[in-house]
Amino acid sequence: MQYRKFGNTGAEISVLGFGCMRLPEIRKDDKSYIDEDLAMPMLMRAYELGINYFDSAPYYCNSNSESAMGRALKSVRDKIYLSTKIPMEKYEKKGDFRKQLENSLAKMETDYVDFYHFWGINKATADKINKNDIMSEVRECREQGLLRHISFSFHDAPESVKYIIDGVPGLESILCQYNLLDRSNEAMLEYAKEKGLGTAVMGPVGGGRLSPPTGLYEKLTGKKSSATYEVALRFVMGNPNISCALSGMETVEMLEKNVKIADIAGEITAEEWARLGEAMEEVAKFRDLYCTGCKYCMPCPAGIDIPKLFEFYTHVNVYGLGEGIKGSYKWYKKNPWGEGKTFAHCVDCGSCEKKCPQKLSIRKELERVCEVLENL
Ligand code: SF4
Ligand code: SF4
Repeated sequence: MQYRKFGNTGAEISVLGFGCMRLPEIRKDDKSYIDEDLAMPMLMRAYELGINYFDSAPYYCNSNSESAMGRALKSVRDKIYLSTKIPMEKYEKKGDFRKQLENSLAKMETDYVDFYHFWGINKATADKINKNDIMSEVRECREQGLLRHISFSFHDAPESVKYIIDGVPGLESILCQYNLLDRSNEAMLEYAKEKGLGTAVMGPVGGGRLSPPTGLYEKLTGKKSSATYEVALRFVMGNPNISCALSGMETVEMLEKNVKIADIAGEITAEEWARLGEAMEEVAKFRDLYCTGCKYCMPCPAGIDIPKLFEFYTHVNVYGLGEGIKGSYKWYKKNPWGEGKTFAHCVDCGSCEKKCPQKLSIRKELERVCEVLENL
């Protein structure tokens, strides 16, 4: 395992981190629980293989993740870094920072957290942190040994990163999305590193979309073999501005495969890294001719997430990621993040087409796209 300097925090963290958002689960009496027989040994195996950065959050795995992570690694607590997050919507008044932190510490059965993140913040949350002087609560908790470092995670527009880093002095690391299909945070990760922040990224294999072996690598390099998945992870780890790629691993097999890749990470040369990125941009141009993802067509009165369905199609058609998208589409229809509606629910109102700057025949395209997705 390779270890990298985590900004100015003084920590050296493994280039592969363990994201505890997809721990194996079982269902009992219509409720989900962590499958401890699988999850606990897997987390310990990750430690034995050299991973020293473990990330969780209060709501992951039906709010069971923090507890599983903390308990599984209790015996090696002083040799690892634990990370979790504060849901900022729970902060209403002075003292709430500490309250949320203490809840997480109790769940993780530990006295302190190494990296405590303001969870999924944006410009408005940055303002809220300053207005309520939450950093003074952070300092107090740090002095009392409840946390070591304060960090933030992020899903907003990339330009907000600068606003947050410059506007909230004292932040020590950033966690955001970054992968071959979504490089929008690349410049901001560079900025964060320049400012001395540690940089961890999530979704290095595109939230699973890039994980199955596909034709992408061949499309990019002209060479056969190698899983897209491996290319994707090596691409992220090959970026010198990134300290750690967090992967949400579900099985020991996946863990061991990722560790093998992490062992040779860095061998990708700067040239290779740039070439892969450029090739991907070229491929992406085809996508831009189609739907830009601008979302002007939304909201759809029938609850159809039009850009999302078009994005799925692009990943199948342009990047050759059919196997991965099959799962994402199934997941979409189960509706964990939206209404799960498809062309079958279209009420033919036509409002989307009036708003599309690309002048797409959305209804016709949607019918075609949904047929392709249904038949993956
Ligand atoms: S035409 Fe169909 S897809 Fe477009 S906004 Fe109306 S219901 Fe939604
Ligand atoms: S308005 Fe058109 S280009 Fe923009 S997301 Fe909707 S379909 Fe795509």
